Amino acid sequence: MIDNSTVAAISTPRAAGGISVIRISGENALTVADRVFVPLSSGKKPSEMDGYTCAYGNIVSKSEILDDGIITVFRAPKSYTGEDVAEISCHGGIFITERVLRVVFENGAVPAPAGEFSKRAFLNGKMSLTQAEAVTDIISAEGRAFYRRAENVRNGALYRKIKSCSDSLVKVLGGIGAWIDYPDEDIPEVDEGNLTETLDNLLTELRKISAAYDNTRILKSGIDTVIAGKPNVGKSTLMNLLAGCEKSIVTDVPGTTRDIVEESVRLGDIVLRLSDTAGLRSSGDAVEEIGIERAQSKIKQADLIIAVFDSSASLDGDDRRLLELCCHMDGIKKIACINKSDMESRIDRAEIEGCFECIVDISAKNGTGLDELRETLYSLYLNNEGVYDDINVNERQKICLDKAIDSLSEALSAIRSGVTLDAVNVVLDDALNSLLELSGERAGEAVVNDIFSHFCVGK
Ligand code: GDP
Repeated sequence: MIDNSTVAAISTPRAAGGISVIRISGENALTVADRVFVPLSSGKKPSEMDGYTCAYGNIVSKSEILDDGIITVFRAPKSYTGEDVAEISCHGGIFITERVLRVVFENGAVPAPAGEFSKRAFLNGKMSLTQAEAVTDIISAEGRAFYRRAENVRNGALYRKIKSCSDSLVKVLGGIGAWIDYPDEDIPEVDEGNLTETLDNLLTELRKISAAYDNTRILKSGIDTVIAGKPNVGKSTLMNLLAGCEKSIVTDVPGTTRDIVEESVRLGDIVLRLSDTAGLRSSGDAVEEIGIERAQSKIKQADLIIAVFDSSASLDGDDRRLLELCCHMDGIKKIACINKSDMESRIDRAEIEGCFECIVDISAKNGTGLDELRETLYSLYLNNEGVYDDINVNERQKICLDKAIDSLSEALSAIRSGVTLDAVNVVLDDALNSLLELSGERAGEAVVNDIFSHFCVGK
């Protein structure tokens, strides 16, 4: 799988900026650099420079000067890719950057496919697969919590957790294998109690890691949220408060939010992908009816319903229809927002309580209650027991974890129902394979290529 050809790409965004960086990596990186870069600050050609040093000079095509800039030299194995690397910083214009890249190609490098530098870093043992995957998370992070967790994974937190599980599984497999293969030797019999305890602990640990996937998904993609409620309870005002801008039409005439308004808002570490739906009530108006139908189908697809009630009025038939709908929605989280808390309360809270995970009092008009709403979201989505909250787990990793969990569970029930240890060994071997695929130690070429193909060019 290892390819030593010399590759190059622009590692900074394709946009006008202060500087751009062209990265060259591979066996002949410094020879290529010698042909395109003439140092002015020292007499040394790039191939004569030490690792971790830089020089100022001209970027040239034959004898024509294209630009001036800085070259930084890294010597194998002490570079991002583990190979010789030269990084040329030139002026950050799209035209000049692409011109320099073309000259680099004319002098012996070939275009680096998407993710090639990170793939080489993985193949050269500079980082594990999970660490390489965390690089894309770091680049795409938009919030502090997601970034912090990605940074932990890049520093090896997930790798170490998986390694410790796979090491203990290797030990178990070794013990069982020796006992099966050398019955005549003086090898101690496998203690079933110890074995099930070890496997149980492993299972708990893998479940804690796997559960981090849900939090990762929430932090990365946000929560599909529907704000629902009958007309005039203050849905649009709440939406506008959350969005920090006027998006929906706020009026005193019931039923004026006719359609679904989409908006993404950030409440601390959580992004809500909001739909402010048409008021849920029966009406003779055809346009409004279409909006209500859409609202109901939107509710069915959501991850979270924020049901809004008006604290200043007692519950009526329309409120009860919403309560009914919420009570029958399983697999969805539901928060009741009792709005207009600035007015005298006439609502019967007891009727609402049974249907919702939490009730939050707000005044969308005055902007109070948002902190409580944020805390409620955190406790519903991020502070779950039995989950590692310091790591991101992506979909590929979750699939491997779940395969390992299934195999371990199968092994445990086999042991408990008296199946012979050689049969159990086969299932435990499957679990180990899934963990090694996750960490990259036994990931096939196709898997590795697929992972890095999702990276951007230049990374
Ligand atoms: P929607 O039909 O549910 O979207 O309701 P709107 O957001 O259009 O609000 C209906 C009316 O209630 C408007 O006059 C708002 O100003 C008012 N309103 C919304 N939230 C509050 C609140 O927290 N307190 C008070 N006193 N009035 C509010």
